[in-house]
Amino acid sequence: MTTTAERPFTSASFEQYLNEKKLMGSHCTTCNKDFLPPRAICPNCHGDQLTWIEFSGKGRLAAFTSIFIAPTVMIAEGYGRENPYLAGVVELDEGVKISAQILGLDARKAEEVKIGAPLKVEFVERGEGESKKMALAFRVE
Ligand SMILES: [Zn+2]
Repeated sequence: MTTTAERPFTSASFEQYLNEKKLMGSHCTTCNKDFLPPRAICPNCHGDQLTWIEFSGKGRLAAFTSIFIAPTVMIAEGYGRENPYLAGVVELDEGVKISAQILGLDARKAEEVKIGAPLKVEFVERGEGESKKMALAFRVE
């Protein structure tokens, strides 16, 4: 077992944590700001004293859009013009925003989607075999 402190603050580490069903970002110990995905250098104070933190995975819907023209990875999941999905910006309880797929709402009924709806993180398995990995999503509670 490697300890969390040993992993570099890279998108590869971020994805590795997702595969472990953990939503991890970095925290600047100098100015107390959180970053998701993780940053190795604090964009706020330019310090490099960062540590890993695990986010609660709870938040609220800040913005969204229905996706009808899906990227290849989502077409493989059965999404597309006939079966759109929602992509949203989630504001986590910790005050950090991240974009992700939104589950539990009908992308064809965008008028029923409420900004501010409470969300909880969900890790969605995508791909087959070697390319299998977890994607970040949030579900309406
Ligand atoms: Zn800082």
